[in-house]
Amino acid sequence: MKMIDLRSDTVTLPTPAMREAVYNAELGDDVFGEDPTVNRFEKMAAERMGKEAGLLVVSGTMGNLVCILTHCARGEEVILGDRSHTFLYEAGGMSALGGIHPHIISNQPDGTMRLEDIEAAIRGSNVHFPRTRLICLENTHNRCSGSALTPEYIDSVAALAESHGLSVHLDGARIFNAAVALGVDVQELTRSVDSVSFCLSKGLSAPVGSVVCGSGEFIAEARRTRKVLGGGMRQAGVIAASGITALEQMVDRLAEDHINARRLAEGIARIPGLSIDPAGTQTNIVYFELVSDRLTAEELVTELGKKGIRLFCTGPSRLRMVTHYGIGSEDIDAALAVLGEVMNTA
Ligand SMILES: *Cc1c(COP(=O)(O)O)cnc(C)c1O
Repeated sequence: MKMIDLRSDTVTLPTPAMREAVYNAELGDDVFGEDPTVNRFEKMAAERMGKEAGLLVVSGTMGNLVCILTHCARGEEVILGDRSHTFLYEAGGMSALGGIHPHIISNQPDGTMRLEDIEAAIRGSNVHFPRTRLICLENTHNRCSGSALTPEYIDSVAALAESHGLSVHLDGARIFNAAVALGVDVQELTRSVDSVSFCLSKGLSAPVGSVVCGSGEFIAEARRTRKVLGGGMRQAGVIAASGITALEQMVDRLAEDHINARRLAEGIARIPGLSIDPAGTQTNIVYFELVSDRLTAEELVTELGKKGIRLFCTGPSRLRMVTHYGIGSEDIDAALAVLGEVMNTA
């Protein structure tokens, strides 16, 4: 039985070209700044993001943490969404390791936070208050249906931040999905933020790694923060090599994942007992609701698993599927057939 694994785009395996690039990579000690492949990759990533410098990190979680720790001092405050990955799924790193105070405000269903809510959350100067230092955005927004924030929205948040002397960090784990879905150059999404992180190991299919980009001065300081966290790596060119291939070969094909996700969403909409608005699926993440009381979401996951379909249950009646490299339209049709059958016979 072939497994169709729709749990996440993190399950993607490196492409043959990546394995080849890793095998042939020229290596050195990157803590000494001497790994030519890392140096080439960091420069390439920074150029793609329209920033001065880049820094290879172990994971998206480390990328966000390195940035937040670099932007903020102990006791300072970060404004971020209540459904953001950084708030929900990064083990509270900013407070655990940085003594930094998260100030959450509501994410709208499209992944934005209202400008008036952000403004209301910015602290005035008062001895009782923590000092606001940073605003974090997420694009695409994982928990908000993989929705893409527009350049205009990001610019408006950055303008608000600037008027209050704050910085903006963009968690761009899937920033290329946003760029491809919106049909814009990725730099339009990063031009107004102070730092951005993105993942190599999701839709771009590299085995490990994320990158942080920002000004030369910011990245020099972030390099120090990464070292503090134990993220200084030696012959890291084995990671960077797959990152180079990812940037060269894996970005444009994300459009295919989006088409497959929409096909999946439209198919789910036709299955009795499941509920979804297919228009809400903008990128490669598909959330849907179970509206039948004949089985629970967890039981549905178990039943599908027995038939070779893997997905995540993200709430009492909420489920998630993610399309990626290695999932073709025939897999979508097969998954829909099994889903229809299980819902029909449950
Ligand atoms: C996956 C993800 C991360 C973290 O990446 P890891 O490499 O799993 O640590 C951060 N932000 C968002 C929005 C993500 O989806």
